[in-house]
Amino acid sequence: MIDFSLTDEQRQLQQLAREFTRREIIPIAAEYDRREELPWQVVEKAFEVGLLNLSIPEHAGGLGLGMLDEAIIGEELAYGCMGIYTVLMASELGIVPILVGGSEEQQRRFLTPLTEKPGLAAFALSEPDNGSDAAAMKTTAVLDGDEWVINGTKMWISNGGIAEITVVFATTERGGGHGATVALVVPKDAPGFSYNKIKHKMGQRASLTSELVFENVRVPRGNQLGGLGDGFKIAMKTLDKTRIPVAAGSVGIARRALDESLKYAKEREAFGKPITSYQAIQFKLAEMSMGIETGRLMTYKAAWLVDSGRPHASEAAIAKAYCSEMAFDAANEAIQVHGGYGYVGEYPVEKLLRDVKLNQIYEGTNEIQRLIIARNLLR
Ligand SMILES: Cc1cc2nc3c(=O)[nH]c(=O)nc-3n(C[C@H](O)[C@H](O)[C@H](O)COP(=O)(O)OP(=O)(O)OC[C@H]3O[C@@H](n4cnc5c(N)ncnc54)[C@H](O)[C@@H]3O)c2cc1C
Repeated sequence: MIDFSLTDEQRQLQQLAREFTRREIIPIAAEYDRREELPWQVVEKAFEVGLLNLSIPEHAGGLGLGMLDEAIIGEELAYGCMGIYTVLMASELGIVPILVGGSEEQQRRFLTPLTEKPGLAAFALSEPDNGSDAAAMKTTAVLDGDEWVINGTKMWISNGGIAEITVVFATTERGGGHGATVALVVPKDAPGFSYNKIKHKMGQRASLTSELVFENVRVPRGNQLGGLGDGFKIAMKTLDKTRIPVAAGSVGIARRALDESLKYAKEREAFGKPITSYQAIQFKLAEMSMGIETGRLMTYKAAWLVDSGRPHASEAAIAKAYCSEMAFDAANEAIQVHGGYGYVGEYPVEKLLRDVKLNQIYEGTNEIQRLIIARNLLR
């Protein structure tokens, strides 16, 4: 029998995240978006209440929450602000490769500090010249005795430069493809490691996105995750999981779009009647609701597959692509429901649309998700 109910623990987590969003995120979201600034106090408060770095396992001092727990929480946080949620979500993106490819000793060494004080992780795969074709990476890693020496530039890295640890993917032989890649953990203070903040993003401006520069950055061989040649595999296995929180965040945005539309439409009158009396408006609300329900079900299913150790690459790709497109449509229609008022910053709906666009691009564009889904169909 299928059981769609959440456990008591999951309902408590949902309530905790909902309350946190109401109190700590919604009141400041527009302001930090305008200032293009990451609200560090939210990271600190998330740490205090237990909403930061959720996937760190118990043996490394963390809560060891599952993907379904993360999805439930992610929907709530993104309801308040997708940009702020990306700060927390990108930290998980930096943690998961250490869970996928790291030994228990490495997990303790790199992740336990993130359970002792507020701190973030980051995941550095994309480069200026290649994002989708990640195996064509140009950042090099050369062994010198017992140390790896890293040189190159990474692009578009969330939490880049301020994260305590960054998992950097590099090639040991340019042009060698995915078989010549390594995953290396680089601490924030490594000499030769610097970053430049990317400004004027369309949305998600409360998240930090950076270019990372590596100039003869040395890390011990013990910072290598998995074996030689495993880098690309670790990156792909990570993204197969972490796309689910992007899907969950998209559901959160769509839910916000629906709630804001309902509120506004009930108040707004045109031609002497509330606009909710017009079927054209009712249908937009109904479409949003259909998308939210469908998207959440798919997200939960993909999360459940991860938690139960079953194959999940295709389902995670379906959830990510479907939910980000569904949420884009919902945000777009929410602006339409608001008419001219939807087009200005006085109402939160224009920010929803600016924010949600990124969900179709990062963690693999939706074109790449379709390639993954098709590959599974054709196998
Ligand atoms: C704000 C922000 C935050 C990000 N955070 C991170 C992060 O934390 N870590 C990280 O590593 N990266 C991050 N990224 C990078 C993101 O993952 C890439 O932008 C994305 O993977 C696309 O790569 P690209 O920009 O190089 O586009 P390209 O790969 O150049 O793609 C351009 C277009 O071509 C399409 N395309 C490419 N190849 C194919 C194909 N084979 N078939 C069909 N269509 C194709 C793409 O879908 C896209 O539409 C972030 C990006 C942004 C904007």
